[in-house]
Amino acid sequence: RKQVFRLSTGSCNLDRLLGGGIESMSITEAFGEFRTGKTQLSHTLCVTAQMPGANGYLGGKVMFIDTEHTFRPDRLRAIADRFNLDQTAVLENILYARAYNSEHQFELLESVAVKFHEEAGIFKLLIVDSIMALFRVDYCGRGELADRQQKLGQMMSKLQKISEEFNVAVFVTNQITSSFSGILSEDQLSKPVGGNVLAHASTTRLALRKAGVGNKRIAKIYDSPDLEESEATFVITTGGVDD
Ligand code: ATP
Ligand code: MG
Repeated sequence: RKQVFRLSTGSCNLDRLLGGGIESMSITEAFGEFRTGKTQLSHTLCVTAQMPGANGYLGGKVMFIDTEHTFRPDRLRAIADRFNLDQTAVLENILYARAYNSEHQFELLESVAVKFHEEAGIFKLLIVDSIMALFRVDYCGRGELADRQQKLGQMMSKLQKISEEFNVAVFVTNQITSSFSGILSEDQLSKPVGGNVLAHASTTRLALRKAGVGNKRIAKIYDSPDLEESEATFVITTGGVDD
């Protein structure tokens, strides 16, 4: 029997907002403008997933699919230090793959499923940072929107299937763009790129935004069937996401 577990984000506030952290057997999507902490959160989860947690969770390996070339081993070393973990061991437990286009990204998911099958019970977290970037490049014309949404939908169901079949937490990031640099309005925050396809496929949607100047960020839960629509603040530090 599969025991659902939760992975810490590195911030107690954010974990509380999520009901204990990001959940296995489901997809968590973090969306927000550039520099809101999506990649830093991904890196922090790479480390916390390797640590024992609540309800007998023992830790496990991580699969990281990078579409924007923003994976940084140096960041992982610093985060490992924060948690007093061996840097080399932490890096060795992360399997990294770079996706070069949207089709390749989909193919990588097939390989991931094979890998998770071969090494049953070893992997606990699958990250795709970012889920949309390559789709935006490959399907840029207006006439291609329907095609893009169809492919995106297929990819999200593949991710959902992987999360359930192998009992892993799936964490995807999604950059939302704003035509102006001011604070995002509620209305804009509720319309990330990807539209309804992502909205229906993701179990938990986390909207991230900057809180003034500095390293403080605000996270808000969106459209969750079982979580309150509330907010939490966190900070980005050398040691990753923290309170
Ligand atoms: P994008 O949409 O461009 O991918 P993002 O949401 O992934 O953006 P991140 O890269 O996660 O954004 O966050 C960038 C922020 O993280 C920067 O504003 C920076 O302040 C902070 N940051 C990055 N590295 C460090 C570090 N070593 N120490 C402290 N803060 C850092
Ligand atoms: Mg990023």
